[in-house]
Amino acid sequence: MPESCSLYLHIPFCRAKCDYCDFYSIPFQQNDRKIGGYVETLLRAVEELRARYAPLASVPSLYIGGGTPSLLGARGVAALLDGLAPILAAKTALPVTPEITIEANAESADTAFLEACRLRGVTRLSLGVQSFDAACRAGAGRRETPEGPDRAARFWTESGGSLSLDLMTGLPAQTEYLIRRDIERALALGAAHISLYALTVEEAVPLARRAETLPESGAAEGLWLAGRAALIAAGFHQYEVSNFARAAAACCRHNIRYWRMENWIGAGPSASGTLIDDETGTGLRLYYPDDLGAFLRGPVPLPLVEELDRLTLIKESILMGYRYAEGPDETLFFRRFGKRLDEVIPRALAKWPDRGERMLFLNRFLLDAFAELE
Ligand code: SF4
Repeated sequence: MPESCSLYLHIPFCRAKCDYCDFYSIPFQQNDRKIGGYVETLLRAVEELRARYAPLASVPSLYIGGGTPSLLGARGVAALLDGLAPILAAKTALPVTPEITIEANAESADTAFLEACRLRGVTRLSLGVQSFDAACRAGAGRRETPEGPDRAARFWTESGGSLSLDLMTGLPAQTEYLIRRDIERALALGAAHISLYALTVEEAVPLARRAETLPESGAAEGLWLAGRAALIAAGFHQYEVSNFARAAAACCRHNIRYWRMENWIGAGPSASGTLIDDETGTGLRLYYPDDLGAFLRGPVPLPLVEELDRLTLIKESILMGYRYAEGPDETLFFRRFGKRLDEVIPRALAKWPDRGERMLFLNRFLLDAFAELE
């Protein structure tokens, strides 16, 4: 039984589907009755998950993602966080209060919503912006206005919360100048954390049918590198492939737990969790299908369960761990698998001795590491 276990909650609603998105979310107009029903089901799912898999675990971090969690509105988010308050307040093994992150989009994150979050201990607001430039946003089929983030960002930072913004590179009509301008504006809004994602377009999404509007791959890489350079010049530290923080305290502790393969459970359609037994190096993946109807049917949604063997978890620990600048947690790795990383993938580590290089050229490093595990 894990001593500590983070919690992820998926809110699968969006006002409209963005043309590049392949996350599980469904278009939704704000409606208290539906939201209320979803929140109640989600709370029942969390209770069941914890009772079965992590009854005594403290919750060092909670991440409410989506979709668009701000569509919960003030009443919905208050009901959700009030329902979770007993487990968040439970004895924690860590000498710090739980980190609570909520994703939002600026249009639905009104003052009442933000105030409800702030009063209930949310520590981080993650605003999905992608680009402040109207043409880039329109080209990617992102529908809300680029002016929105200012109000929400100002309210949040003035009330002492930590602000993260999501930006994206590789959008139609984007230039290096526009990326630098996006970053300047994000910094002016007080972002202490920026996720800079390189757009990848899966075949099934609408933007794939307008592939000719996207920068070709060399140019797209140049755009991301220009963004990275601007962030580093502004004093941000790249602590993961796509994540940059102004200071260590601004890093997302919840995501670091994923990258280090610490235990977490997730609830909601498309959410998943991973629990690893430190004694055997084996574990469980708990997940819910991408199906809101199925999640809402029946008294309590139950996750599907997949058993994970040792080799799978060694590979996942390497895959996730080297995304993080500090690499996998070596002590935890040894405790679980009885071997040090330099015993498991000695040749790949010798070929890529530099940490930063391993992170920058992650795919190539992983190919070497996985070839060694076969
Ligand atoms: S707001 Fe986010 S989750 Fe929703 S459709 Fe757009 S990219 Fe996807």
